[in-house]
Amino acid sequence: CGIVGYTGFQDAYEIVINGLRRLEYRGYDSAGIVLEKSDHSLEVQKTKGKVDDLEGIASQLKGTATVGMGHTRWATHGVPSDRNSHPHLSNNGKIAIIHNGIIENYDTIKIMLTDKGFTFQSETDTEILVNLIQYFMDLNAETDFPTAVRFALNEVYGAYAITVMHEDYPGVLVVGRLGSPLAIGIGDKEYFIASDASPFVEFTKEAIYLEEGHMAIISLEKGVDIRTIVENSKIQPEIQELKL
Ligand code: GLU
Repeated sequence: CGIVGYTGFQDAYEIVINGLRRLEYRGYDSAGIVLEKSDHSLEVQKTKGKVDDLEGIASQLKGTATVGMGHTRWATHGVPSDRNSHPHLSNNGKIAIIHNGIIENYDTIKIMLTDKGFTFQSETDTEILVNLIQYFMDLNAETDFPTAVRFALNEVYGAYAITVMHEDYPGVLVVGRLGSPLAIGIGDKEYFIASDASPFVEFTKEAIYLEEGHMAIISLEKGVDIRTIVENSKIQPEIQELKL
């Protein structure tokens, strides 16, 4: 179970794949990647098995993107399989999520969303969350992507570290955390996300360890905007110097 994300100017494929390798020690059964292509569309590749297996199906993505994220899964809801691997896409195909942890009340939300016409490709708890984000954006055109993520997180309980991307918000990564770790690496015109600092320590020594119940909107234009998930209160980030 590991999370890696990147927005910047380097090859996102390399950073995500190498980052996932650094997190392999945490244990996992599947791996996946999503990249934002130059036309801003999202391309997902994922598979049961090892990061090597992912490379086997995804290596054509090398050099195609500067924004992306990847996941190693330790299955809790749904067997290890290609379909249950992350990232998961929303029904409209615009939003991608990776998640470590458990959404305890996923079944009630799944019933609500199914009632509204949503369909599901996997047995995971995670897939309800990405569709709940779409649901909130569909409901009100004034609800932007980060706000919809915040609304969705306020409906779920359990444990999570998530990273979410939206096709209409190029270069933006929205992350959140409750009960699972998430670190943000601050580079020069680039940002890294990871379950721990090991995937990005070769690129930057400055990191923010996201605190419990906080989310962050990360973009090249606006930097790192940290908020509390419940109150939407702005938090002054505490940047730490990584020591080796
Ligand atoms: N609960 C999610 C799943 O089973 C995430 C598991 C994980 O932490 O990797 O897909």
